Amino acid sequence: MTSMIRMVLAVLLFAAATATAVTSTNPEILTTYDKSLSTTANISLATKSVPDLSGRDESDADGSILGLELPAVYESDGATIISRCTVPDTVALTYDDGPFMYTDTLLDILEEKGVKATFFILGDSNSRLSDYKEMVQRAHREGHQIASHTWSHKDLSMMDSQQIREEMTELDHAIENLLGVKPVYMRPPFGGLSTTAKKTLASMGYNIVLWNHDTNDWRHPSDVNENLIPIRQAVSSGDTQGHIILMHDVIEKTVTELTLQAIELVRSKGFRMVTVGECLGKPKSAWYRE
Ligand SMILES: [Zn+2]
Repeated sequence: MTSMIRMVLAVLLFAAATATAVTSTNPEILTTYDKSLSTTANISLATKSVPDLSGRDESDADGSILGLELPAVYESDGATIISRCTVPDTVALTYDDGPFMYTDTLLDILEEKGVKATFFILGDSNSRLSDYKEMVQRAHREGHQIASHTWSHKDLSMMDSQQIREEMTELDHAIENLLGVKPVYMRPPFGGLSTTAKKTLASMGYNIVLWNHDTNDWRHPSDVNENLIPIRQAVSSGDTQGHIILMHDVIEKTVTELTLQAIELVRSKGFRMVTVGECLGKPKSAWYRE
């Protein structure tokens, strides 16, 4: 290795370790990103206050918040990690933490507008999958993508491999009972990842989905205009890059107001709203496994 390359790597590693804005496609450095993102997530959770959503919130594990521009798809510790869409001019609306009492209304809205979305569902957290199983079956039947958000929304970066396996397989079995298939795509709660989590998830055949725009609906559950800002930024940049948008169908206004305004805004800019699988160019057969 030449001294020039060593110097460049040292600078990049320092930048990543201090979580400053840096653009790199070097997969060796991305492990550091994950750790720093996860740390930010824990700080964020400890200091924020959204009483009626306690335990449900997503973190700041979002490259865009930290000023990081992650590659759309990258390998880290053997895992495939997705941060945005690879198909140009697409937007994937993603809804975490359901199913919940608003999910049926959301499906009505998506059906009326002809939009397909992706649901990262839980098994047993503040609500129970068994109470809303018809909603999940309906979403699947109507062409939305069902993906895993773990059984009970714990931070995988704090768990050992066996605990992670249990979180994943318990929900897999529940989804298989409802749909006859198991999801290939998962999103870690709070975006929390560790080397152990990535290796374990990869060994279980999961693709890990993050996001590149967080509506912050968990932080501002009543401020739809605030929630729309990241979406507006995403589709107004003038390039054709596809985007994965983070939202939560456990928040009433996200369902009843933000979704409709987001659809109108995204369409006005010429983007297509598709599932995560489709925005990666994957056929439906690749979204699930037997
Ligand atoms: Zn979540």
